[in-house]
Amino acid sequence: MYSQVVVNVPALYDRVFTYRGEAPLGSLVQVPFGSSTRAALVVGHSSVTDIAEEIKCLGKPLYSGAVWLDHALLALSQELADFYLCTRGAIIDLMLPVPFREKEVSSLKKVARQATSHDETLMRSAPAQLTTEQTDAIEQVKRAIADGQAKPHLLYGVTGSGKTEVYLHAISFALSQGKQAIYLVPEIALTAQVIANVVHRFGEAVAVLHSGLSPGERARTWQRVLSGECRVVVGARSAVFAPTARLGLIVMDEEHEQTYRHEGGVNYHTRVVAQLRARRQGGVLLMGSATPSLEVYSSAARGGTKLLRLTARPPGTTLPEVKIIDMRQELRQGLSGLLSSPLRQAVAASLQNGEQALLLFNRRGYAQLSLCRDCGHIAACPHCDVSLRLHAAARRLLCHYCGYSVRASEECSRCRGQLYNRGAGTEKLAEELQALFPGFLFTRLDADTAAGKGAHQKLLTEFGRQDSHVLLGTKMIAKGLDFPRVTVAGVVDADSGMYYPDFRAVEESFALLMQVAGRSGRGTTSGRVFVQTFNPNHYCLRLLEQHDYCGFYSIESRLRRKLSYPPFGGLATLCFRGKDQHKVLEAAEATGVLCGANPAVTVLGPVAEVPARQKGIYRYQLTLKAPNRKVLQVVLGELRARITEVCSSGARWYIILE
Ligand SMILES: [Zn+2]
Ligand SMILES: [Zn+2]
Repeated sequence: MYSQVVVNVPALYDRVFTYRGEAPLGSLVQVPFGSSTRAALVVGHSSVTDIAEEIKCLGKPLYSGAVWLDHALLALSQELADFYLCTRGAIIDLMLPVPFREKEVSSLKKVARQATSHDETLMRSAPAQLTTEQTDAIEQVKRAIADGQAKPHLLYGVTGSGKTEVYLHAISFALSQGKQAIYLVPEIALTAQVIANVVHRFGEAVAVLHSGLSPGERARTWQRVLSGECRVVVGARSAVFAPTARLGLIVMDEEHEQTYRHEGGVNYHTRVVAQLRARRQGGVLLMGSATPSLEVYSSAARGGTKLLRLTARPPGTTLPEVKIIDMRQELRQGLSGLLSSPLRQAVAASLQNGEQALLLFNRRGYAQLSLCRDCGHIAACPHCDVSLRLHAAARRLLCHYCGYSVRASEECSRCRGQLYNRGAGTEKLAEELQALFPGFLFTRLDADTAAGKGAHQKLLTEFGRQDSHVLLGTKMIAKGLDFPRVTVAGVVDADSGMYYPDFRAVEESFALLMQVAGRSGRGTTSGRVFVQTFNPNHYCLRLLEQHDYCGFYSIESRLRRKLSYPPFGGLATLCFRGKDQHKVLEAAEATGVLCGANPAVTVLGPVAEVPARQKGIYRYQLTLKAPNRKVLQVVLGELRARITEVCSSGARWYIILE
């Protein structure tokens, strides 16, 4: 008997090696490899081989021979490698819950010893009363699960319309059919409430996979899912790889969230993986959102995804009133500071009434750059092509791309001239609020204040307990807990997101603004939303004013279709990285010529990315457009080896396939 294995040598990740002997499929073994011993994953068995050379024998099993990837996951690893044009080993590395790439692999016993036992007793809660729409949606999902229909379902409904209840009923039904379910959330840290709900409802059948688990806990949880002991898995995007052999349902909450996009190594989208998995295992993918991604909503419009709607809002709540503030006019009227007079007055009024306010300002720090008034010098990062951001409380100038920092001084480092700070951030906004509303308390939430473990959740909880009056911060404030006392929400600068150079910038802005708007007036008092902009007529803002997702979808999809951007055309970004700027650019240019030789592909670039240099590495990219994704997969599949050859003299490259 022979075993086929993938060895933990990244350069050979696309090769399968044959050894004499048999170990369980999906288990890790040691193998003699060249002059060393490596870890390898068993991916196949055969009774014969046509290999002429001498075949070595498998070494000792690792982790007591435990199986980590079941049959479905092993097959999925090949399917994903073909889809994303990467190596199978890279996918396996992503999937495995235990170290693979490391030379030395510790034994399971050692890992298992670190695991803490999981013996909390859990209460089960009674399900809430359902609306007719919820009942309808649940019935449709149940039917699909029972039939093993792999068609994806989109549950489209505003926040508070009761999507969670539909998910829980669907999971419950899947379990009653003897199947397993995966419940994906955009961010585990902010979904304590969701997890509590799921654990409450399904008790010990639930496994939570998150990055805070120790290696031992992770391995143990994984084994409990694999054995079928855990039948519901809750987690962020990596939980899409949970070893649920009897998969009946994958729930993907807030499907439009950017956190579902994985970057680095393999660039995958959780939705794509979930779709392929559901199809392979006959499970149902149930996605939910109040602002579905264009990909999913257009699929629903074409009938590829089944659309389920929840239109009812929770009783007693009304849509908040959205006001678009023209900042050009505010400037003409002598605006000083970051807040327009309508927003300032609204915050003041809500504070006087003992209510709370929420302010979104998606830039952290005190100032975006420190400029010398005399010589024009701007403090820049020595490793990245960006200016350093001023963080006033820490008295440091910080690079937001590599973490480099220097002490902030009062004067120019070159000519000792006077410095002028431009482009405010959250720290500056907090300072302004203190001056405007003395005696009130503010919670600032951004990557600086939420740095410690659990700090994010703690700040939100404090605000929820009404320990402070205003919550201000970056987009981190848009998610998490419900704040019934918030009656005013303000967006300090709606423009920076909308004009970001990415074809999804407007879509993402719209989703974020809708989410922030939805956070005001969740209690019995109706809410008001103020959006500050220099482009008050932008369709994104006009449709936000009317809470009109469908209107937004129709305009945005028309624009995308015109430019053949996804989901109406294939798009791939080829990224080139290296220390020698000239060589990186050369590799990108040569690749552009190779790809452009195919008439079905349009090549844009190469262009330098923003920033053009990060941590001393130069970054260029090519954009490839084609009528659809399949064309790009075929073309890039054929060219992969040649591109790697072209890049061999000093650039790394990888593909981000939309
Ligand atoms: Zn100077
Ligand atoms: Zn830097």
